[in-house]
Amino acid sequence: MANNINTKICMNPECALHGKANEGNIRTHGWYKTKTSRRRRYICSACGKSFSSNQGSAYHRLRASKEKINYACHMSAEGVNISAISRILGHSWNTINRWLERARKDSHDFQVKHLEGYELHEIQADEIKAFTHANKRKVWILALIDVGTRLWPSVLTGKRNYKNIRKLFGKALHKGDVDNKLFITTDGFTPYSWVLKRMLGPACLYGQVVKKRKKNQITKVARKVIIGSKEQIADALECSEDSENLNTSFIERLNLTIRRNTSYLHRKTPAHASRPDRLQEQLELQQCYYNFMRPHQALKFGAEVYTPAMMAKIADHKVSWAEVLQLYLATLVEFLVNCCNNSYEHLKTAV
Ligand SMILES: [Zn+2]
Repeated sequence: MANNINTKICMNPECALHGKANEGNIRTHGWYKTKTSRRRRYICSACGKSFSSNQGSAYHRLRASKEKINYACHMSAEGVNISAISRILGHSWNTINRWLERARKDSHDFQVKHLEGYELHEIQADEIKAFTHANKRKVWILALIDVGTRLWPSVLTGKRNYKNIRKLFGKALHKGDVDNKLFITTDGFTPYSWVLKRMLGPACLYGQVVKKRKKNQITKVARKVIIGSKEQIADALECSEDSENLNTSFIERLNLTIRRNTSYLHRKTPAHASRPDRLQEQLELQQCYYNFMRPHQALKFGAEVYTPAMMAKIADHKVSWAEVLQLYLATLVEFLVNCCNNSYEHLKTAV
């Protein structure tokens, strides 16, 4: 679709046909050479301005090949730090950082558009302690997982307090559907129960797993029912395909994945994130990769391994980095083609 001339639009904001598809004003205008290959140029007959096939995507005005940029994003999402990527690919630290800045922004936008419409049945929430700045300022990462689909609907960095926990649950519930009684498990941190009692009340079942530690060893595990009765929790556990008792194993496993795949969070790392917002952006890139691109070994069906988004039925294939990095272009083209088709139904979904 991206190379079809009918889907090309004039990018010049001063042109009378700016942003209009199917007007017949766009013609091919030869090629231009890049360091590694050649790229198509187009020209608009209305304003006489030319533009490249990459305009409007994250690849625009970057000299390296798309494959190389995708590869750098992939490595970053798997926990390779920027210095290592720059050594592997032979580009400067600043170049790699510029690519990743675009990828972080596009990952955020991709999830705003696509991470919605999932169903939540059983969720677990937890926190990870992390540091930012060279002088090790403490920051918490709050994350939440849907156990059945392994989908990771929301993540937040900041203080571990009532306000942020409410934001974490609000974000996940706002974009998803809750069917029947939502079954929630967390650790024993008290503000969880304040938030859930106020936010969902009897519309959910809520249990806590409280672990007592001595010299880093778990000495005692207590399981408490906070909202609902013991019988209702037992019924919910009976219906669950994954949990046999109240547990936080699935969110703890996700925490491990987050820690291993985010280079800022490696243990004993000398390179913490410079600011909490940088850490949040990197986590969103990581979240986009985890939900939409990375096959999850627990979601293996015969020869096929699903991604959490496929399991949650919000994606029908494994998404590629190219799709994420060309999102702006794809959305604009999709919107304009639908406008031309004059179809109200399409318009609704495009907006
Ligand atoms: Zn034009």
